[in-house]
Amino acid sequence: MSSSDQSSGHQTHVALFPSAGMGHLVPFLRLANTLLRHNCKLTLITSHPPVSSAESHLISRFLSAFPQVNELKFHILPLDPSIANSDDPFFLQFEAIRRSVHVLNSPISALSPPLSAFVCDVTLISSGLLLATTLNIPIYALFTSSAKMLSLFAYYPFAKMSDPSTDFIRIPAIGSIPKTSLPPPLLINNSIFGKIFAQDGQRIKELNGILINAMDAIEGDTLTALNTGKVLNGLPPVIPIGPFLPRDFENPDAKSPIKWLDNLPPRSVVFASFGSRTATSRDQIKEIGSGLVSSGYRFLWVVKDKVVDKEDKEGLEEIMGEELMKKLTEKGMVLKEWVNQQEILGHRAVGGFICHCGWNSVMEAALKGVPILAWPQIGDQMINAELIAKKGLGMWVEEWGWGQKCLVKGEEVGGRIKEMMESEALRKQAAKFRDEAIKAVEVGGSCDKAIQGLIRMWSK
Ligand code: UDP
Ligand code: UDP
Repeated sequence: MSSSDQSSGHQTHVALFPSAGMGHLVPFLRLANTLLRHNCKLTLITSHPPVSSAESHLISRFLSAFPQVNELKFHILPLDPSIANSDDPFFLQFEAIRRSVHVLNSPISALSPPLSAFVCDVTLISSGLLLATTLNIPIYALFTSSAKMLSLFAYYPFAKMSDPSTDFIRIPAIGSIPKTSLPPPLLINNSIFGKIFAQDGQRIKELNGILINAMDAIEGDTLTALNTGKVLNGLPPVIPIGPFLPRDFENPDAKSPIKWLDNLPPRSVVFASFGSRTATSRDQIKEIGSGLVSSGYRFLWVVKDKVVDKEDKEGLEEIMGEELMKKLTEKGMVLKEWVNQQEILGHRAVGGFICHCGWNSVMEAALKGVPILAWPQIGDQMINAELIAKKGLGMWVEEWGWGQKCLVKGEEVGGRIKEMMESEALRKQAAKFRDEAIKAVEVGGSCDKAIQGLIRMWSK
């Protein structure tokens, strides 16, 4: 492993500033772990209080695994929710952090050695620029979704959203995205998410670079378009450093389903999980349950009944009803807790993944070569689902629409599970992505080279 401890004698010091939600925190901490392996000094900015217990747990596990990391804790100023036009606790937290960020000015300027680079979350670009430009520190954003989504983010301020004559946004060199596939808050006036898109999308040109959990094997064409001015002139370098590797500090203390999987034949189990920040409606939970049972496959299903884990208190039997619960436990394992998703996806017994298409989950499936049945719920997930289907990493049933808006019947779910589990083509394509992903993260692979290049640049 190379060292950032250059002959000049000072260590490369990087500050990482994640935003709210596990989908943002997880990739930041994976990047942090990689930088630590390259002997960087790290300051991790943590915003308090975090929204979910999952975030608090992960931050504590990370800090106890790496006591050398300097935690810069900052307390978010209270936000009046009426100005925010959203009831999503994670979006509210984005906005609250953005409005509190000035309090970080003096603690950041006091850091020693001075920062070599500042990496902020994609939702904190204006805030990050405010801090980094005053202090004259190179600033990067970590984009926590796909390169396709990044091209939308870059192009959005120039897109004619309100033009009623078209149902699409046409992104140069990328293609058309139906308005119905856009993150739904972009279609609502004055939504926080829409404001972040419009304001920060315009400012990405001021960044020194954009780091992204992407790889050429999946999104080479889009990455090239972004990096050759074809999407938009004047973008900073977009540096693919994916796939991010899950690390030991992430292991939860919760009971592990791995022992159960150990006794099952290869590729015989369907894994179903919809990420960390969406709840499934009670009606849909029942349909998914009956679909899993009727698929004939064994399954491991992680249920989320509330958006924020602290509020997710009801037991599975209360949610499912006694009869369904009995059928479910005859054939599968149902959990309502944080699991080690990466370990599950990497288990030989798992043959398919019913996935909401949060980008971290997609890249984890690619890294482990597990085919996806895409079921987008919110945000960027439909854009990611289209991409997965196009690349053959999974299948997407367009008629299912947004998981948060439509109800899909159990029979239909069961039928599509069979289709995914029986598809030789999907299995082959997923295995191809796994091989490419492994190549990218090997010593001397694209991911390793990109990180080494960054550290060399930062240490100058
Ligand atoms: N995750 C996990 N266990 C769970 C739920 C989620 O390890 O029980 C991880 C998952 O592996 C991924 C992250 O949490 O790394 C969720 O990010 P993603 O972008 O997939 O979706 P989001 O939760 O933001 O919708
Ligand atoms: N949790 C987690 N990682 C862990 C343990 C728990 O993300 O290692 C999640 C868990 O799934 C639940 C929430 O944090 O949603 C509350 O966990 P716990 O029951 O341990 O309660 P706490 O001690 O945090 O009050």
